[in-house]
Amino acid sequence: MLMEADGEAKLLAGGQTLLPVMAFRLAAPAILIDLSGVQELKGISIDDTGVRIGAMTTWRDIEDDQRLRTAAPLVSAAIEHIAHYQIRNRGTIGGSLSHADPAAEMPGVVVACDACLEIVGSNGMRSVPANEFFLGPLTTCLSADEVLTAVRFPPWPATRLWAFEEFAQRRGDFAYAGIALFHETGATGLVENAHIGLIGATSVPRRLGVAEAALNGRRLDGETIAAAAQLASSEADAEDDIHASAAYRKALVGTLLERALKAAAERAEAL
Ligand SMILES: Cc1cc2nc3c(=O)[nH]c(=O)nc-3n(C[C@H](O)[C@H](O)[C@H](O)COP(=O)(O)OP(=O)(O)OC[C@H]3O[C@@H](n4cnc5c(N)ncnc54)[C@H](O)[C@@H]3O)c2cc1C
Repeated sequence: MLMEADGEAKLLAGGQTLLPVMAFRLAAPAILIDLSGVQELKGISIDDTGVRIGAMTTWRDIEDDQRLRTAAPLVSAAIEHIAHYQIRNRGTIGGSLSHADPAAEMPGVVVACDACLEIVGSNGMRSVPANEFFLGPLTTCLSADEVLTAVRFPPWPATRLWAFEEFAQRRGDFAYAGIALFHETGATGLVENAHIGLIGATSVPRRLGVAEAALNGRRLDGETIAAAAQLASSEADAEDDIHASAAYRKALVGTLLERALKAAAERAEAL
């Protein structure tokens, strides 16, 4: 149907973004293709290769799946910050990733976790790493005849340390900024494999590579945390908007990274 519509159709997932956009007359697709009856796009599977979440799986289904709290803890932790209960009943992970709002939580989480996006279109199937899927604000590599079918997360080691921190003016609002973080601690006690996903204070979901490099190979003491927070703050490409100034958001990124690193360290004590 997408191919026949020749760019005139839009896929409808839960409608939690598309319908408001249409109500504001920002989009007026001639044809809506409702995906809600496509069972193959729904569901969560977990095995040795990691976690696979179908594009039409709702936030609510993800929130309720207790297995994800250990198999993909950043996904579970992010959910409670996404919108409101009613919206989470209908909104889907695939709709959020396809919409590619840099202020949304899940794009930052999939980039932080090195997830892959599974896509089907007229040229067959392809799998795209999350950091290549998002091209800009509200822009992805999906072409007009392609459907996002699932997101696949690599296996999550039980000893991995992680934290999700964000700041929004009210619960359920889009965050001014957020951080999805994980790292490992080697036998030497030094940080390894730091991944920091940035939410909100950026034009495209991405990792903070400079701050990550400042953490890897270091002991996680006050000096390392302060240095990484300062680098993260400068690295965030926030812009002024009606909600907050760029300077405020950048400062917030540093503060949130500091909090996230401390929260992750507290998890180490509990292991
Ligand atoms: C008041 C309010 C507050 C919100 N707050 C937050 C928040 O804090 N954080 C957050 O992350 N989100 C928030 N949202 C958005 C919410 O999370 C939506 O669930 C999410 O945007 C996706 O909506 P949906 O699944 O209903 O997709 P739809 O609205 O149906 O579709 C969204 C877009 O994706 C396309 N699409 C959908 N599925 C696919 C697919 N499988 N393949 C290709 N393209 C597809 C559609 O064509 C459309 O362009 C909020 C929404 C509202 C209304």
